[in-house]
Amino acid sequence: MGKIWRVSGPLVVAEGMRGSKVYEVVQVGDEGLIGEVIGLDGDQAVIQTHEETQGLKIGENVTPTGRILTVDLGPGLIGSIYDGLQKSLLTLIENSGHFIKRGATSEALSPSAKWDFQPVLKVGDRVQGGDIIGVVPETELVAHKIMVPPDMGGVITELNKGAYTIEDMICRLENNGDKTDLTLMQKWPVRKPRPYRSRRDPTDLLVTGMRIIDYMFPLSLGGKAGIPGGFGTGKTVTLQQLARYAQTHLNIYVGCGERGNEMADVLYSFQDLTDPLTGRPLKEKEIFIANTSNMPVVAREVSIFVGITIGEYFRDMGYDVLLVADSTSRWAEAMRELGGRLEEMPGEEGFPAYMGSRLSAFYERAGRVETVGSPDRVGSLTAMGAVSPPGADFSEPVTQTTLRIIEALYSLDVSLANKRHFPAISWLSSYSLYVGSTKEWWDKIDTAWEDTRNSAMRILQKEAELEEIVRLVGPEAMPEADKLLLLSAKMLREDFLMQNAYHHIDTYCAPKRAHLMMKTMMRFYELSQGMMESGMTVAEIRQSPMITKISRMKDIENDVFEDKVKELWAEMESGLVAR
Ligand code: ADP
Repeated sequence: MGKIWRVSGPLVVAEGMRGSKVYEVVQVGDEGLIGEVIGLDGDQAVIQTHEETQGLKIGENVTPTGRILTVDLGPGLIGSIYDGLQKSLLTLIENSGHFIKRGATSEALSPSAKWDFQPVLKVGDRVQGGDIIGVVPETELVAHKIMVPPDMGGVITELNKGAYTIEDMICRLENNGDKTDLTLMQKWPVRKPRPYRSRRDPTDLLVTGMRIIDYMFPLSLGGKAGIPGGFGTGKTVTLQQLARYAQTHLNIYVGCGERGNEMADVLYSFQDLTDPLTGRPLKEKEIFIANTSNMPVVAREVSIFVGITIGEYFRDMGYDVLLVADSTSRWAEAMRELGGRLEEMPGEEGFPAYMGSRLSAFYERAGRVETVGSPDRVGSLTAMGAVSPPGADFSEPVTQTTLRIIEALYSLDVSLANKRHFPAISWLSSYSLYVGSTKEWWDKIDTAWEDTRNSAMRILQKEAELEEIVRLVGPEAMPEADKLLLLSAKMLREDFLMQNAYHHIDTYCAPKRAHLMMKTMMRFYELSQGMMESGMTVAEIRQSPMITKISRMKDIENDVFEDKVKELWAEMESGLVAR
């Protein structure tokens, strides 16, 4: 047992700690605050506490636990709301009211809940790490596969069907005389990636229902994406839309250092939502980790790793998981604060030099993988992090470091947000390296996707190039061909890229629907080019009633959409403007 020697913010220096290890969990002070050893020097240990340290006194005890920080993985995770240390906030509130005392403990998974365990193997079967031994139907949407922990194996000598708590023995393994008992729960160190057999190419589209993402800058299942944006540009709304509508098996929302009332909004709004595809409550496929700005800063890092570890665990079951983190900047700021207190040599703008490696340690755990264990299965974990650069200045270190790691960038633009163009994702500065890898997925909808997408991008880029000239000479002085391009670009911007998260139909746009919308707009452009060549002016083309009809495509109910669009096409082919 050690004694507190010095307290500096979230850092505690303790003496008498010889024999401790880096990352060992310790209990600090009389209240037993949770901390981790982050440095050792002789018999002194530097401890980062994950709870407020106010009032800690020199000489109070520090008790090493011999454990490292782990995540509890098992039935009961889904629908939970955790703090950064995987304490269940709902249980904490039940136990200690809305003002949670520090040092308060709460099990991550209910020790008394009973789960219906249905084995899929039998006594005598030989198993190894990752093998699925049975299933717990945890929610209507997610069957929780019970797996042999990665580092265990043997012959099954007992396998119990029925209702069990997470602490009951459900399976006994024997390996050369050694017996191991398995429960429905396993623990895993937060900072250690779970093993997998091999990485797979991220070839499938992660359907988000946002046209600018799915169609223009597709994200793959297993991809890594960042969404930087200044205050009020739509980071939170976008991440919430993804957590709601992404066509994945499970979503994890990590609120990291954002304001408490914003997080409360998110949690409340999710309570009543249903999954658009199944009609089931969304909380049956959602896990929340809320580490708000008034919670201790150093727990921010842990909250992100708790989230990604839970994500990997469900990926191991063969599921597609999405993790969104709002915001990685707040986490980086916590690193800066801690680095300062440790008197480390600061890097750019005071951020520690290891910030890049920490951020990439997070994103690198995303990916599409063939899991360990049998039966063979492939799962994916997609990570999307919001970045909040101060003053929307993307040249600052957290944004720049993130850019080097991610493969899809959704860059939020203040001027678009000011114009109320939402989502304010800039089509000029965003990119996705998954355009090629998702082509095969899109080909199943229409092999024309890539060409259509690229043509639309060219129109939008050309519009940006022409902007300066328009400003100088005015739109009416432009050549007819440019005027038509500008008309078409405006249509793409306002009727395709703009998408209202609060409109009951437009909030989610299936990829096929997005493609039909885009095809209609591109066909309009083609036909009007033909008419222009045969002598019609753009002023005349602008009178076409088709323009209004195209702009209303967003409002058409899904079940009649294809029929209505076919009618629109027939009308368009018979002439854009009555002569
Ligand atoms: P940030 O998290 O970047 O500070 P928010 O996500 O809170 O910004 O968005 C700010 C506001 O912008 C929202 O309250 C909403 O009015 C508007 N907004 C953002 N995205 C959309 C969207 N996709 N559809 C409609 N409105 C949006």
